Order: sequence, then C-alpha cells, then structure tokens
Amino acid sequence: MSPGRIGVAVFVALVVLGPLFLPEGLITMLNYTGLYGLVAVGLALVTGIGGMTSFGQAAFVGIGAYATAYLSTAAGWSPWAALAVGIAVTCLTALLLGALTLRLAGHYLPLSTIAWGLSLYFLAGNMEFLGGHSGISNVPVVQFAGFAFDNPRKFSYLIWAFVLLAIWLLRNLLASREGRAIRCLKGGKVMAESMGVNIPRSKIIVFVISALLAAVSGWLYAHLQRFVNPTPFGLNYGIEYLFMAVIGGAGYVWGALLGAGIITVIREWLTDVLPGLLGQSGSFEVIFLAILTIVLLQRAPDGLWPFIAGRFSAKEGTKRSRGQVEAQASPLAKRSAAASGTLLLEVKEATKRFGGLVAVGGVSLEVKAGEILALLGPNGAGKSTMFNLISGVLPSTSGSVSFLGKPIDGLRAHHIAKLGMSRTFQHVKLLPNLSVLENVAIGGHLRGNAGIGRSALHLERAEEASLLAEASRQLDRVGLGQLKHVAAGGLSLGDQRILEIARALCADPSLLLLDEPAAGLRLKEKEALAALLKKLRAEGMGVLLVEHDMDFVMGLVDRIVVMEFGQKIAEGLPHEIQQNPAVLEAYLGSVE
Ligand code: ADP
Ligand code: MG
Repeated sequence: MSPGRIGVAVFVALVVLGPLFLPEGLITMLNYTGLYGLVAVGLALVTGIGGMTSFGQAAFVGIGAYATAYLSTAAGWSPWAALAVGIAVTCLTALLLGALTLRLAGHYLPLSTIAWGLSLYFLAGNMEFLGGHSGISNVPVVQFAGFAFDNPRKFSYLIWAFVLLAIWLLRNLLASREGRAIRCLKGGKVMAESMGVNIPRSKIIVFVISALLAAVSGWLYAHLQRFVNPTPFGLNYGIEYLFMAVIGGAGYVWGALLGAGIITVIREWLTDVLPGLLGQSGSFEVIFLAILTIVLLQRAPDGLWPFIAGRFSAKEGTKRSRGQVEAQASPLAKRSAAASGTLLLEVKEATKRFGGLVAVGGVSLEVKAGEILALLGPNGAGKSTMFNLISGVLPSTSGSVSFLGKPIDGLRAHHIAKLGMSRTFQHVKLLPNLSVLENVAIGGHLRGNAGIGRSALHLERAEEASLLAEASRQLDRVGLGQLKHVAAGGLSLGDQRILEIARALCADPSLLLLDEPAAGLRLKEKEALAALLKKLRAEGMGVLLVEHDMDFVMGLVDRIVVMEFGQKIAEGLPHEIQQNPAVLEAYLGSVE
C-alpha cells in the first residue's frame, strides 16, 4: 500500500471511529471541519485548479440551507426531497450566474462574486417567508433508513459520508479526460482550445460543481443546527472559505480539507483566548486569521498541502495513469485519411491588424494532403500570427480560410480542432505539473466522449485506458517513450517541443501545424524529427511548418512560402526559393 493510501485509510478510520469516543467539543470541530471542508474543496476546484477566484460560495451554502429549511418546515417536505430541490435551484443559479460572469476577465470576476455574495445575503434577510433576519427554526432531523441523525455525534457520519464521497468523485474527475481539460483552465486555455477543449463549458462545469458542494454543505448545516438565519451565508464567510482553500493549498482537494480543519481549530481557539487577552470581545479572530493567511502565503505560496503530500506521494492525478497505460486497451477510432493531393487548407488574402500594425497583410497559401509546406521569414514576419488565424486562436481582420473545402472563418479553435487540424506553439504551452503522458493525452481530448458523470464515477476506465495508450504510442513514436511519467515541466525545451508534436498527433489530425518545431533541438534530434515528418507525409498527412533552419527545411519540404513584414514575398520549390533574390535579401539581411 502506498503512503498516500495509508494516509487516506488512517483519515477514514478517524472519521469513522472518532465519533465513538471523542469528547463533545472535538465532535463539533470535526463536524465544522467537514461542513467548511465541503465548500473549501469546491473552491479548490474552481479557484485553485480552475483559476477563477470566488468570494461568493457562502451564498450557495445559503441556497442549500434555506431551500431545505423552508421546504422541510413550511411545506413539510422530507429533507431528502428538499436536498434535491436545493441542488436543482443551486444548479440553475450557478448556471445563470456563470453564464453572466465567467466571461469576465481579470479582477472583474472576483468582484462580481462579491456582488452576488452580498445580494443573496440581503435577499434572504429581507424575504418575509424566509423569516427575515431572525431566520427559520425547527428544521427537522434527517432520517435515513429509519436511523435518525438527531445529535452532533451521529450527524458527523452524515457530514463525513458526503465529504468523503465528494473527494472521491472529484479525484476521479480530475484524473480523467474532463479533468485534464479542467486543469487547462489555469494557464493553458489557448493550448486546450486548440486541442478541442470547449473552455467556456469547462469553466461552467467547474463553477456549478463547486456551487453544488457548497449547497450540500448548507443542507447539512441547516439540519445540524436545526435553524438557519442569513448570517453564516454573508460575504465574510465567503472570504473565510477562500482563506481555507488557499491556506491548505488551493490546487489540492485534500489541501482544502486541511485548510478547513486548520481554520476551524484556530478560530475556535482564538474565540476562547482572544477576549481574555484583549479585555473585550469582538470578532478579532478574523483579523488574526487574515494575518496568519498573509504570513503563511509568503512562506508557502502554494499552501500547506504540498509540504505534506510531497513527503508521501506523487503529484495528484499522475498515479492512476501510471497503472493504466500498461493495460490492454482497445485502439481509438481513427479519422479516415484524405487521399494524397486533396486540398486540405486554403487561405485566401488573410489579413490581421493589431491596431496600426499589419501583422499579416493579404497572404494566401494552400496545403494538400501528403505535402509539407514551409512558411519561412525573418522574425516578426507574421508567421505565428498566420498560424493563429488558421487555427482559430485569433480572429482575422479580413480574408478567408477553408479547411477540407469548408469555410472555417470565425469558428472557435476547438471547433477547428474537431475538423482535423492540430498544432504546436512557438512558445511551448503545456501543463508543467502533469506528467508527459497526461499532457499528450490532452491532445486526444476529442477522441473520447465520457462526460462529467461517468468520469467522476470512474466508469470511463476502458476509454481512459485507450486514450492513455494512444498518448503512450505517440510518445514512443516521437522518441520520448522513456519520459512518460516525468513531470512535463522538467523536460528540456527541445523535448517539450517534441512533446507538443506528440500531443498534436494524439488528436489524429489531417493537417499538422508546427511552429518552429526544430528550435533548440540537437542535430540528431532534428534528423529524427525530419524522419518522422517524412513518415507522416507518406501516410497522407498535410504539414505546415514554420522553421528558421534552412538546412532542415531544404531537404525536407515540398514547397515554401516566404513572408516578410506581413506580406508574402515568394512561393515555390525549395531550389527556386534558394535562388530567389527577394528572399535572399530579406533572409540574409536578417540572419546575423
Ligand atoms: P513571426 O512568427 O513571423 O516571428 P509574429 O506573427 O509573431 O511573427 O508577429 C508578427 C508581428 O505582429 C510582430 O511585429 C509582432 O510584434 C506583432 N504581434 C504578434 N502578436 C501580436 C499581438 N497579440 N498583439 C500585437 N502585436 C502582435
Ligand atoms: Mg513566430
């Protein structure tokens, strides 16, 4: 058994056996750790992993709590039916809020979460039927199969059943295809979209899941306290939840739980000690918690969890993939290859302006199946911009792009990826903390279809095994087979470029766009890359290649387009281009 598993087993034993003998005070802390932990775990997902800061989680806790408090008292519903309604209402609210706010960039998203955190709080306080500021009392006891959770000791089982279930589901999800897409939300959006991930969808999913966890916490809270009023759902609690997630380590599910435990214990202790020390009562503990958070984050910007986990286990999400890749996996379906010579890509008069700068000014080019076209030109010529126009990363100012005979202007990058175009980036874009294998598997995103539910329940084993086996096959093919389980961030820059090629190939593309793939490679590696590209061409793939190394290009490619200052200055066969005076001037002029 791995140390990580032993840790989990000890922890589960604690929450199963603890309530049998722990004193009343500790039971309370255990319960609150679980309640807060559920919310903090959701924040770990939305903020730590998804990169969207939310101050508004307490409002979702409020929805869960008020839904059950109202329905189980005034309407006399069973708490379980009220839970279902609370979940439905939260889902709708989060979808609506998400649709309105998740597009916001920078600080506007956190600010808008503050706004809804405040408004839901005041709404509850002013609603007559929700009891206004005095709230709703006599919330009934939760029963399950004849067992009544009628005291905190018994109730802790209910809380921790939900917490452990939530952690299990989330860990499954994060180790899946959908989870890899979610991990791209922070720092990998452009790359992920080019690999076919629908980023806005992933954002909404993450946001809704975190809201649901908060709502369940609210439901539990209402039936533990048997009473609700608006106070615990206000903005200051929203901030405190964020403290918990951040202190524990916002990128880690278990870390969030740790943070919830630490804050619960410290706050309990401070509320006992501070009034005595300061000679008066007041909510001074909040100030202390804030100071603690600041100090801690200076020392440990990733929170406390990495310190603990680093001692015991590999990075989250990497372990399962290690076991599975060896398993017998059925191969993924492949796209039917276009016949050699088919027109794959047709760019007509593509133009991109950045303010006054014409980065690409009316450039046309074509790539056929079974052909390698090189796009040459000095730095700043507009080659990478051209790639971005073709792959849908940037909208063009004018001109048109067709792929396999269909116009793709205005399509999002993930739609274009679906049609069979895949790419690499001049400035490598990968998830440094994930293994090489998992990074490459992101390229296979569109070749799987297991959704959130199946992934969270880990019912997508067969598909996941096939995806990882495909990623593994592509890594063997590009010569990185030995490094599958290494964290991608640890590779040399040259190997990271090769990883990007494997990732692009994992999408089973008809057209491959490679932006300076040979930069930083040694001679032997360049030769291996050239051999691979020749093989891909022989298989009927179209390749559009940006490259500086003339020797590399000349022996390899079929045709060349040369750009300078955003214009196409030449097009032809390699030996023609080598003697073209305009090219020689543009090119030699820029080579030092
Ligand atoms: P290349 O890949 O050929 O070296 P690029 O396509 O990266 O050239 O850049 C072409 C020109 O467009 C450069 O002058 C560059 O500074 C400018 N440029 C590229 N991207 C942007 C952007 N997002 N905003 C403004 N200017 C840009
Ligand atoms: Mg470039």
